[in-house]
Amino acid sequence: MSFAKLGVFAPLLKAIEELQYKEPTLIQKRAIPLVLQKKDIFATAQTGTGKTAAFALPLLQRLRKPVEGKGVRAIILSPTRELSIQIHEDITKYAKYMDIKVDILVGGKDLQKQRERLKRGTEIVIATPGRLLEHIENGLSLDDVEVFVLDEADRMLDMGFTKDIRKIHPLLPKRHQTLLFSATFSDKVRKLSKLILTKPAFIETAKKNTTVDTINQIAYHVDTDKKAALLAYLIGSRNFEQVLVFTRTKASADELAEELVKDGLKVGVIHGDKTKANRLKTLNQFKEGKIKVLVATDIASRGLDIEELPYVINYELPSIPEDYVHRVGRTGRAGREGEAITLIDIYEKYEIRDIEKLIGQKIPKDVVEGFEPDPTIRRKDVDEVKLKAEHKREAKKFVKHTKEPQKVTAKSLKMAKKKKKRKTTKRD
Ligand code: AMP
Repeated sequence: MSFAKLGVFAPLLKAIEELQYKEPTLIQKRAIPLVLQKKDIFATAQTGTGKTAAFALPLLQRLRKPVEGKGVRAIILSPTRELSIQIHEDITKYAKYMDIKVDILVGGKDLQKQRERLKRGTEIVIATPGRLLEHIENGLSLDDVEVFVLDEADRMLDMGFTKDIRKIHPLLPKRHQTLLFSATFSDKVRKLSKLILTKPAFIETAKKNTTVDTINQIAYHVDTDKKAALLAYLIGSRNFEQVLVFTRTKASADELAEELVKDGLKVGVIHGDKTKANRLKTLNQFKEGKIKVLVATDIASRGLDIEELPYVINYELPSIPEDYVHRVGRTGRAGREGEAITLIDIYEKYEIRDIEKLIGQKIPKDVVEGFEPDPTIRRKDVDEVKLKAEHKREAKKFVKHTKEPQKVTAKSLKMAKKKKKRKTTKRD
């Protein structure tokens, strides 16, 4: 099956040929004809499956004929600035042989300058929900929107954008096409889909929450205080050229980076406290190979598109099991092989079961010679473990009621981490 057979028109075919897309991925095969038929879509597709082109190509084709005097004709909402930038880059490449104006509206940039650009006739807007609302409050009209796309909808809802989406949606014209993409099939997403989709076509390209088939997964048991040394050893002994490492919190990302620098590694850090300019600079240095190890938190990891990333390391398990799927989706992209290594300490030994339940498969476990866990180290007592679980539950509850969930979670988990450190003890 070729892109041409899916009905993709010549200017787009020329652009994707230059990008060396030989044939459409599964999500593209299924979504492109449906989007061209102007149907609403509810697609579960993970990062790395080619989902951006799955909506962007038919969207561009739908809007191929310029209409005089029209305002914005398509809105693509994405949860993070990084993902928005990635989508913008991709669409700009696909639209190389078309005459269509695409713009990106994300926070951290001058609102006034963005408004001036919009006045010059932007047809496709890629935006984060908050910044789009700011523009709407400043007079941006959605009256001419023909296509509304929500990318990584599950993540947007997890990040607390539900209210924003509910504010934006009624401002769209009655007749418009909505394309909803989500990596997971959560209840929140289902609820939203009922609100915003009309007779949608369902596309499920991966089983619920399963990890991508081309990823080899392995977990190594190791003591908490040996994790950094094991990580440095793995990078060195296995000659990892480029590796993405995930931590649970911003604080541990910083701490780990410091440790790895001491080991002589070139390291970059991306997390919510870094400015956008800083994050982009680090990402570019990583892409150019100037940085070997990129340490990132879950929130910051969304939208990172790094081609042919062979390794992802989970230095700490994520606080939400679904994030494991997002993390390992950074490797094995578009059919390539990838390896996801997870370092688990005595506490995470239990947490990993939630992830295995979610992905419906066992992650093979092993130890690395010289880094075997000390068998005399045990969890201090059941009460403390319970306390930690309660603490996490409270943090989650709190997140539900706050506008800035990532900040609160990070802070709460930082406290949990401090407690965790105190909990490891030696048996007499
Ligand atoms: P996405 O899931 O949209 O983040 O895409 C993941 C990566 O796959 C991006 O680097 C795309 O450029 C690439 N890609 C998308 N579609 C194809 C295709 N049909 N063939 C090869 N690579 C693709």
